[in-house]
Formats: sequence, structure tokens, C-alpha cells
Amino acid sequence: MVVVRGATTIAADDKDEIKYATAELLKQISSCNGLIKDEIVSIVFSSTSDIHSYYPAKAAREAGYEGCSLFSTMEPEIEGGLRLCIRVMVFVEKNIVPRHIYLRGAKILRKDLTSVFNVAIDGPAGSGKSTVAKLLAKDYNILHLDTGAMYRACALKALESGVDINDEAAIVDLMRNVKLDIQYIDGVQHTLLDGEDVSERIREPHVSMAASTVSKHPSVRMHMAEKQREIAHKMSCVLDGRDIGTFVLPDADFKFYLTATPDVRAKRRYDELLAKGHKVDFEELKKEIVCRDEQDINRKIAPLKLAEDATLVDTSDMTIEEVVAFLKRKMQEKI
Ligand code: C5P
Repeated sequence: MVVVRGATTIAADDKDEIKYATAELLKQISSCNGLIKDEIVSIVFSSTSDIHSYYPAKAAREAGYEGCSLFSTMEPEIEGGLRLCIRVMVFVEKNIVPRHIYLRGAKILRKDLTSVFNVAIDGPAGSGKSTVAKLLAKDYNILHLDTGAMYRACALKALESGVDINDEAAIVDLMRNVKLDIQYIDGVQHTLLDGEDVSERIREPHVSMAASTVSKHPSVRMHMAEKQREIAHKMSCVLDGRDIGTFVLPDADFKFYLTATPDVRAKRRYDELLAKGHKVDFEELKKEIVCRDEQDINRKIAPLKLAEDATLVDTSDMTIEEVVAFLKRKMQEKI
């Protein structure tokens, strides 16, 4: 016996919604697994405790799945869990490798049932990795760790303390005497230097290049990578950076490398900075991005590069939503 899993969400606890979503989910499970109804032995539904209007099992019977046993159960409330969600296990008498189906934002992984998993998203500046990582983490209800923020914080501290960013020993000394903390407020990452929230200031253009320079120093990188591993081993998270899939977490469960043409990347950064009220020159910004790429790609330790087992995604002509959907599809395929 093989079990195919699936889940879907509904917009409201409404009989018609439940009927439609249940039928749609079963139809997708059947077609993606090449199943005919006679091969289904039983179907077990469990829905979140905010669904009362109709039994999904009844909806399944009405959708034509009357030749197998059907059960509906209710899940206990899970703090932070997905709302209005119908989950299903379809037991089939067929020798297949199951393709599990998750529709309408239903999470692949239930927080209370899965162990820690990590998603590594690497790529150059402006490839969209931070935005995508943020959305992906929100969708899976897990942490987003923007590792670039840590190098930026280190660079900001050096710049403000008048320490030469090229002097490795001085930077290490500085980092030894500063408290760098990452905190999450309403799911959003905040970077703190000695208790002061510097999340906005680290985004200023002059900090970007300096971050790339401090990140070249092996001892700085070892220190940061250790901190990142500590977080990633404790809890599921999406980490975005330059070396996550190659150096920080070479065993990450899912690995992606996002890229885009320099023009597209510069335009994205330009719009982002403009929206935040920074005055920037497009050509200058593009030059900075290309120069930073050069430095990140050519540094000796943990350079920016595509991990052998990462999925390469050129986002030049894709919207953020398309990139997120693509990554989710790739992750589902791997489960
Ligand atoms: O991603 P972001 O643009 O914020 O990163 C700033 C700089 O920090 C990068 O140009 C890169 O040199 C460095 N960095 C790194 N490794 C990471 C994340 C960022 O070297 N994992």
C-alpha cells in the first residue's frame, strides 16, 4: 500500500468552498499520480479546527469517490499553524512513487511534524534572493536569516569606529568587543550592534562595498559562518547569502542559486534605494554591483559560486511571485 499526501486551504469555512477545494485536491492527486478511482482503497482527511461547515469526506463522496472508505477527522489546534487547511492521506493499491500535492499555499511541511530543515539561497547582489527568501520563509512559517546583514553590520561598525576595513586583525579585534545580535520582531529580522538596531543603516550604499571587503577576511568569515550554523542547526530556516550552499551548510536540504543580468540587478537595487529615499546614480550603482561581484567571486575563502547540487535560477525575466512559485515547486519535487 502506498500513501499519497496532500493539503489545500480554503478562504472561509464555507460548505461550497470545502466541496470545491476537496474535489480539486483529489483530482490533482489522482491526475499527478496517474490513479484511477478503483485503485484508491481509502481516503483520510484531517482538517484544522476552524473548519466546521462540512465534512471533506462527504465532499469526496459527492465528487465521485464512493468506492473506497472515507474518513474525516479534526486536528488539535497548533499554535502558529496554518488556518483553514484540509489535509489528506490517500491510500492506494498501486506500486508508485507518490507525488504529494499541496495547493493554495498549504504548507509542505507541518511545523509540529517535521524536523529542522534548511533552504540555502545564494547569488549576487540584486538577484532577488533576499526578497524571495523572506517570502518563502513566511510561507513555510520558518525563519529567514539574511546573512549579508551580519557582514554589513560588521562593516558599519568598522566604518563608524574608523577601523581600516582591510586590516583583518583590527576587524577581528573590533568584532570581539562588539555584541552582534539578530532578533526577530513579528517575523522580521533586526540586526543589533551593542543593543542598537542598525537594520536600516546597514542598507546604506557605502556599507555594501565595505561589507564585501570585510567578508574577504578568513577569520571574520569563520566567525560569521559559525553563528549562522548555530542558528540553522537549531531551527528550520531559509538562509540567503553568497556561500550558504557551498560553505556554511553544504548539506542544506534545498539549494538554490539566483542570478540576473547586471542591468536588471542594478535596476532592482536602484528602485529599492530610491523607494527608501536614498539618492543614487544608476551607473555608479551598477559599477558598484559589478565590482562587488568581482570581489565576492574572486576571494580566496568561500567565494560566491554555484554549488554543484544547487538549482540555478535566472530571475532576469521573472517576477518575484514566479521565482517563489518555482522554488516551491522544486522543493515539493524533492520531498
Ligand atoms: O547580500 P548583501 O548584499 O546584503 O551582502 C553584502 C555583502 O556581504 C556581499 O557583497 C558579500 O561580500 C558579503 N556576504 C558574504 N557572504 C554571505 C552574505 C554576504 O560574503 N553569506
